[in-house]
Amino acid sequence: MYWTNYHSHSTFCDGRSEMEEFVKLAICKGIISYGFSSHAPLPFSTKWAMKEEAFAAYLSEFERLKTVYGSEIELYFGLEVDFIPNCSDIDSKFFKDKSFDYLIGSIHYLDKIIDNQYFCIDGDFEEFDKGVKTVFDGDINAAINSFYDVSLLMIQKGGFDIVGHFDKIALNGIHYKEFDINALWYKQRVAEVFQLLKEKGLILEINTKSLFKKGFTYPHQEFYPLINELQIPIVVNSDCHYPMNVIDGYEPTFAALKKAGFRNMQRLVKGKWLEVAFDNNGLLY
Ligand SMILES: [Zn+2]
Ligand SMILES: [Zn+2]
Repeated sequence: MYWTNYHSHSTFCDGRSEMEEFVKLAICKGIISYGFSSHAPLPFSTKWAMKEEAFAAYLSEFERLKTVYGSEIELYFGLEVDFIPNCSDIDSKFFKDKSFDYLIGSIHYLDKIIDNQYFCIDGDFEEFDKGVKTVFDGDINAAINSFYDVSLLMIQKGGFDIVGHFDKIALNGIHYKEFDINALWYKQRVAEVFQLLKEKGLILEINTKSLFKKGFTYPHQEFYPLINELQIPIVVNSDCHYPMNVIDGYEPTFAALKKAGFRNMQRLVKGKWLEVAFDNNGLLY
């Protein structure tokens, strides 16, 4: 029985420890397949994306760790790539001459500018609320619709393996009384995006980062039965920024997935995605 994790950060972006510390903790916590997914560089400055100049060092540190720890853990090289319409995607010049074991496609910004800045949906609530008021006239549901429109564009475009934190807009969205994840229109929007994701053969991440603090995963547990019914391939990731969080939220999430009817999930084996069985205590192969 063991775990895997393909969504992780380090000091090359906004993670709080060196890559090596994450590898040590991963081995210690029973992870046998682990991927690094630093935030890919962006064409504007942020506090959390990796600087383009740092890429060579990111790759060489990865290769060093693979040599040192390769007999104890399978290590994989990836990035978390922002999709921002007309600004950042997989066609950016940065990706042209580079290869990765896998990529995660994520949305942190909507294609709207406030004071020459993109509207960050993954920041603190004050900034989020300012965006909703400025760009969407205070209409949270319009912001949510825009988020799923952008999700559809990202998935349609493809070029990555895993859809990261599917409904991240809920992190701040839940603070509005008008936001209701049980509303029919909301469920239909989510189902529409799942459907396209399934058609495109992408893997859906079950992201456990907010489980202990907020009580939900991305996507929300509410959608597990639908994801299972659509037979969308899944992977459980912790999106850790601290080594101690490498498997945060895994046990309750694996149990909830099992309860919702899932029997298998994806894992990288010698560089290829394979479907493997799991139970409450981890993957079985
Ligand atoms: Zn992210
Ligand atoms: Zn992340």
